[in-house]
Amino acid sequence: MENEILIFGHKNPDTDSICSSMAYQILNEKNGRKTKAVRLGNVNKETQYVLDYLKIEAPELIEKVEENQEVILVDHNEFDQSVEGIEKAKILEVIDHHKIGNFKTSEPLYYTAKPYGCTATILFEEFKQKNYTIDRKEAVLMASAIISDTLLLKSPTTTEHDRKALQELAQISNINLEEYGIEMLKAGTDLDDYTAEELINLDAKEANNNGVKFVIAQVNTVSIEDVLKREEQLKLAINNTIKEKGLSLFVFAITDILNSNSEIIALGEKANIIKTAFGKELENDRFFLEGVVSRKKQLMPNIDKNI
Ligand code: MG
Ligand code: MG
Ligand code: MG
Repeated sequence: MENEILIFGHKNPDTDSICSSMAYQILNEKNGRKTKAVRLGNVNKETQYVLDYLKIEAPELIEKVEENQEVILVDHNEFDQSVEGIEKAKILEVIDHHKIGNFKTSEPLYYTAKPYGCTATILFEEFKQKNYTIDRKEAVLMASAIISDTLLLKSPTTTEHDRKALQELAQISNINLEEYGIEMLKAGTDLDDYTAEELINLDAKEANNNGVKFVIAQVNTVSIEDVLKREEQLKLAINNTIKEKGLSLFVFAITDILNSNSEIIALGEKANIIKTAFGKELENDRFFLEGVVSRKKQLMPNIDKNI
């Protein structure tokens, strides 16, 4: 594996991280460059829905990379969210749609950052720019990533670029956007057989602001109430993680994807920043945020600024 260039998204991979790694491997193939898409964690149920729909296997799981391994990062740049050993790997390229933080290389690289709703939208535009035809599989991979990251174009992170890309990809892949999109998103809300520990890690992102470590985790649901039935176990799991990782704050967002709201559980010594960040009082370590669905655009910036 050492000789292959590896492409991967972030830890606790979401549909964009998996599908964009695969789509970018294909794009590289068309460019005559051999790369290999891999993943840094379990495939979630939403992504599994996409893989099953296409009848394809998930990329191989890797735990760490060796020194000087050539890598391409998609859908992330922060080392806290990347593979073990990333500091000593050779980062050839980054394709991402997040803020840039805790990122440093010792050599020059290609860095594509666009403030779009999804990494796959950046890739779609690259396919177009190079005049490559997009086949059904490629279209479904990229469309699914866009549906996931933009919650079917309803998230405030959605840009005109994402809308255009998704419309064209839906045409190519011949999927009914509403039908396929809702089914795919709903597949990701089947949380019953996860333990509380698994739930808080399913889509957790760790951040580090001047040495203050915190996590913002998120789960999608069609019923916030349903998830809150396990409130006590969730809080226990969160408090354990805070202790284990030495975190100052753990924010767990339970996002209702049908009504576009989130219930938040906030624990840790810095939980009181919630008041300045969102103007809300914590009640029972919880508060409700109307119209909030995006970690990247609505949660992270407010928390990062106030921590
Ligand atoms: Mg992602
Ligand atoms: Mg993404
Ligand atoms: Mg996401």
